[in-house]
Amino acid sequence: MNKLRLLALLAIGFASGPVSSALPADGPADSPSSTSAHRQVLDYKSKRLHVQTDLAPAEAEALYARLEETLKFAAKYWGRDPRGQIECYVVEDLDNWSDAELPHRLARVIVSGVGGATVPRAVGTGSRTRNVPTVFASSRPGVAEHEIVHAYCTQTFGSTGPEWYREGMAEMVVRGCTRESGVQCSREQFASLRIGKGTTVQQILSVGTTGRQISAALKLMMDDPAHDGHHVSSAAWTQRDSDNVVQARDEYLRSWAFCYMLLHNPNYAKRFRTLGKQFVTKQPRAFDEVFAAVRDEINFEYSFLLEHVAEGYRIDLCRWDWRTRFRPLDLGRSHKTRVVAARGFQASGLSVVAGARYTYQADGRWSMSADANDTDADGCVGNSGRLVGVVMDAFELSAPLLLGRHGSFEAPTSGRLYLRCNDPWNEVADNAGQIAVTFRSP
Ligand SMILES: [Zn+2]
Repeated sequence: MNKLRLLALLAIGFASGPVSSALPADGPADSPSSTSAHRQVLDYKSKRLHVQTDLAPAEAEALYARLEETLKFAAKYWGRDPRGQIECYVVEDLDNWSDAELPHRLARVIVSGVGGATVPRAVGTGSRTRNVPTVFASSRPGVAEHEIVHAYCTQTFGSTGPEWYREGMAEMVVRGCTRESGVQCSREQFASLRIGKGTTVQQILSVGTTGRQISAALKLMMDDPAHDGHHVSSAAWTQRDSDNVVQARDEYLRSWAFCYMLLHNPNYAKRFRTLGKQFVTKQPRAFDEVFAAVRDEINFEYSFLLEHVAEGYRIDLCRWDWRTRFRPLDLGRSHKTRVVAARGFQASGLSVVAGARYTYQADGRWSMSADANDTDADGCVGNSGRLVGVVMDAFELSAPLLLGRHGSFEAPTSGRLYLRCNDPWNEVADNAGQIAVTFRSP
């Protein structure tokens, strides 16, 4: 285990819940064992998994069941059963473990400083060499599950893809946000995502520097003669190392949002799965090969997500239409389109010209939730349910145009007109109804 090709596969354990809730609790006062004895390390084994943990039996069993579920999910997603057994050490309190029970010299610092890591060990020789992963994780919610995804990819394919994909997908499996659930995050995570709204695809694709700094710090500790032959203690972890972990968490959160968007946006979903298969089978240039033609569209939709993301935001409903053909309005002709309430901005098919005036008539009714009264395109209080437009030019959006049942507007810029029913971005799914809109030149 000396030769640690470590932490190319370093994995920052995310805590999905509040960290404090996962800290080891004192036993109840009347428990005879709570005062002295260290908790025993328990062992759980199946063909695919070998878990050792100092969690209390009920929690340990629940953890084991979650890890089995996670493995099953990963096998289904990447379409291959795991090969062999994954070793997994899940630590609630490092004091419960002797060094001999944690078979890696960095195990303590990984658990207490990083949160978790998957350490690959090369087994066999020549072309038969393969990576056998060992997971070290704190018992904070989601950390071991996250690592198990890395371990599965390492063991099954020998590769996990680039950092953004590896970390984004591990979080995807752990978080379990579905298309229908929309985005689910803590308040801090939403804030962090929105702060990063200018993040470009290029920045996501080059995520990795912080992870490499953490790996380098661990390698230095491993090589430090002061620790020679002994486990590195948790105290070796510095404030700077902790700051790096915080930063890496933010980067990986944005990677997750990127993966989540590509997976659930019908514009990209199919190609994203193809991309993933290429990544784990070691085709590093795959992103450009698969997505070069729509890179600007992805950039736009990702920034849009980061800007508007909130609890329950539906990627599929808020996707942008790129395929609709847009045409200018010929003099004396009309252009008719339809706007659905339960969607984000929809292509009107109308190209507008800066400074030109257009009249419109909107017929039909829609509602903002199952128990709300329906309205026409004028909407109601606070412009809720009002028909709004926006003009897109070279992936830039104009200020919103407040439209309504009928009237006219002057195009603020030349470009493609998109329309929607005004409603908070995370409350679109329960809307109903649609409105037919006709445009004319006056
Ligand atoms: Zn990870």
